[in-house]
Amino acid sequence: MLEVVSFPTAAEAAAAMTPDSRFLGGGTLIMNRVNYFDARVKRIVHSPDPALRQIARDGDRIAIGAGVTMTGLIGHREVDFLTPAARAVGGPAIRNMATVGGNLMAPHPYGDLTVALLALGADLRMADGREMSLEAFLAERRGLVQAVLVRRPDSDALRFRKVARVKPKGVSVMSMAAHLTRAAGRLSGARVAYGAMGPTPLRVPAVEAALEGASLDANGIAPALAVATEGLELPDDPIASAWYRREVAPVHLRRLLLGEEAR
Ligand SMILES: Cc1cc2nc3c(=O)[nH]c(=O)nc-3n(C[C@H](O)[C@H](O)[C@H](O)COP(=O)(O)OP(=O)(O)OC[C@H]3O[C@@H](n4cnc5c(N)ncnc54)[C@H](O)[C@@H]3O)c2cc1C
Repeated sequence: MLEVVSFPTAAEAAAAMTPDSRFLGGGTLIMNRVNYFDARVKRIVHSPDPALRQIARDGDRIAIGAGVTMTGLIGHREVDFLTPAARAVGGPAIRNMATVGGNLMAPHPYGDLTVALLALGADLRMADGREMSLEAFLAERRGLVQAVLVRRPDSDALRFRKVARVKPKGVSVMSMAAHLTRAAGRLSGARVAYGAMGPTPLRVPAVEAALEGASLDANGIAPALAVATEGLELPDDPIASAWYRREVAPVHLRRLLLGEEAR
């Protein structure tokens, strides 16, 4: 028997979560599990809290409610830099339902938006009031997320790329994002993240280290391409073999970093 409960605020919903409860975002993933009688889901928790659905300035950051959908992100003035990643999630029907919070929790090969948020160094405000980095959250994926907190990147500093066999709606063979910050004309503190290249979206420390102090041109990024998959345990699955992912990753990393269009 499945119980469905609703609480006025996200904080109350968070307090009511039990190990067999799942919070309901847009339901594109969780309702499939319910429909197939997944015995681990006994309770669906919902909240109409407006804080989950708004995009608002929060000091020098932008707070994106975890219940905002991909469609709600696309073209929104405050977060227009996330449009390419939000547009990469499924087709229009999925984007109308799929939420930011659900994307943070989505299993491999999903999580395209999360890849961009990871490259941006996003933090999360949890419904119980705690704040944590997105990176720390992805290591455990526990608790109810109320909002994602991001700083606006400089124009053209955030780059995103999704590689799929079926276009435009296929799942990711890999997705990549880079936040290319610079000092005195050289890359400094750049962050690079991949999706569908491990159990969750992840940062790529070897690539980030190789980009430190580099110029953003073919010669400058060559050392980063050489370590494109260093230290990663790549998925070997029906979407793509680990071998294929390893072979094509440097090609797509080059296109991402240099802003080249796919041929
Ligand atoms: C046909 C199809 C195509 C898809 N294509 C893509 C794609 O191209 N790229 C991609 O990234 N994804 C894709 N997805 C996966 C999914 O639609 C998205 O990842 C979406 O963002 C998940 O959000 P949701 O609101 O629907 O999650 P839900 O199904 O509502 O929830 C998913 C999980 O997240 C948890 N959750 C939801 N909100 C929160 C919160 N605020 N805090 C903590 N936990 C929460 C739920 O409890 C549940 O465990 C696809 C799915 C389908 C069915």
